[in-house]
Amino acid sequence: MVVVLDLEDVSFSFDEKVHVVSGVSFRVDGGERRAIVGHSGSGKSTLLALAAGILAPSSGEVMWFGRSLRAMDDDQRAALRLAEMGLVFQGAELLPELTLRQNVELPLRLLARPWRGVALPLLERLGLDEVAERLPSQVSGGQRQRAAVARAVVHGPRMVLADEPTGALDSEAGATVMRLLRELTSEQGTTLMVVTHDMAIAGECDVITRLADGRVA
Ligand code: ADP
Ligand code: MG
Repeated sequence: MVVVLDLEDVSFSFDEKVHVVSGVSFRVDGGERRAIVGHSGSGKSTLLALAAGILAPSSGEVMWFGRSLRAMDDDQRAALRLAEMGLVFQGAELLPELTLRQNVELPLRLLARPWRGVALPLLERLGLDEVAERLPSQVSGGQRQRAAVARAVVHGPRMVLADEPTGALDSEAGATVMRLLRELTSEQGTTLMVVTHDMAIAGECDVITRLADGRVA
């Protein structure tokens, strides 16, 4: 079994006093679905940013495929993120000046991979074919989140990291987004790490890590 992500005694503080993440260790195996749960302020988003190399730990190591992010430079971390990760945030964070289709094509274009004709079938599958040429501001929150899911999986990353991907949606739209995330990642054998406070969503994962005050509880 390939270990995709390995956190070893990871701690982080914003102000060098209070640890927001404290001594967190766990491994995520290839193909695993892991939920990170915990109350608001427990450090879930910070942990996800540490895992993705967006933040650097104050101490401890974050390893991807056995390689420490600390040993990479900014360009190498960015390249790893682009090729091997798909990120979904609560507010979708699609580029506002690009259509949904163009947003989904973006990872492929940045990776200099074939992109023409790839986005539409995926958007169709997510029920977005009729709004593919609209800007993010011209569609609903649920449609934006589904487009964000498409963008996160379009390039076949090894792992999708999602931070409260359903947090801004009503329960029906949220369930659809989660179902699609689960279907698309399991078809591709993609590892999934999802931050959520929705226990129904966490229950669909293989492993649940509970954070309390920045520690694994
Ligand atoms: P969660 O996602 O579980 O709600 P976060 O990781 O966002 O938790 O935040 C954990 C703690 O870190 C909170 O106490 C929060 O106020 C603090 N925090 C988050 N972001 C920052 C920041 N940019 N600067 C200072 N403190 C922050
Ligand atoms: Mg959060």
